Amino acid sequence: MSSGYRYRGRLAPSPTGFLHLGHVSTFRVAQTRAEAAGGLLLLRNEDLDPLRSKVEFVEAMMEDLAWLGIEWEPPMVSQSQRVGLYRVAFEQLLEAGFVYPCRCSRKDLARMMHAPHEDADDEPVYDGRCRPSGESFSRSLVPEMNYRFLVPDGEVVRFADGNMGAQSFSAGVDFGDFLVWRKDGLPSYQLACVVDEAEMGITEVVRGADLLKSTARQLLLQRALDLPAVEYFHTRLMVDEHGARLAKRHDALAIQTLRQQGLSREDVLAMID
Ligand code: GLU
Repeated sequence: MSSGYRYRGRLAPSPTGFLHLGHVSTFRVAQTRAEAAGGLLLLRNEDLDPLRSKVEFVEAMMEDLAWLGIEWEPPMVSQSQRVGLYRVAFEQLLEAGFVYPCRCSRKDLARMMHAPHEDADDEPVYDGRCRPSGESFSRSLVPEMNYRFLVPDGEVVRFADGNMGAQSFSAGVDFGDFLVWRKDGLPSYQLACVVDEAEMGITEVVRGADLLKSTARQLLLQRALDLPAVEYFHTRLMVDEHGARLAKRHDALAIQTLRQQGLSREDVLAMID
């Protein structure tokens, strides 16, 4: 075998809270798929949010993964240590004319969300008010400015998901010009994720179905940055008996809480199978 292909998956939790059953359900799928392929599972600490990320959650997440028997290949990668890498990619996008500065305030953006959203966690569809017209396109880097990806009008992103089948998302309906660089000097989740998948040599991304629209945006970034293609496998979200997403009931279903209540690893795994 000299094809050089080896499966590389990843776990990418954000240390903004304790891991809960929803994470475990996705992580178990990631673990099973990496094992079945005889590949590796890497761990990425998505700690780019300076206000919400906490070291205690990173420690708790490592402890929970070990307790659950979800093994990963060290070293752990922390996004907060890699801002230089993301910045290089951002400058490449800027020079190539894929992004533009946006002066909209949080208030402006909130107003753009006219109707209550199906998934309130997702970025609102931007109405394009800061989009450059004709020659006014500036390619220089202005400090303390948000930058958005200019999604071509009429763009439809299609991909075949390993679990959920054929997917199709349309610009202006499912997503708009999305954030790439933030005025606090940090990349958006979309940019950091795409740069990391490439740099870590990830071959398949396993994550929750709440991120399907993010995948559409990330495919546009991958294309713009000329990065290698990645496979996607989105897992269905766990819901309670009323159909509400489990992830929303964070604390009650945190692995730490379940452990403190005396549940064993087997008990916890039985809750997601
Ligand atoms: N860090 C994200 C989260 O915890 C997951 C990102 C991903 O898997 O791409 O929701």
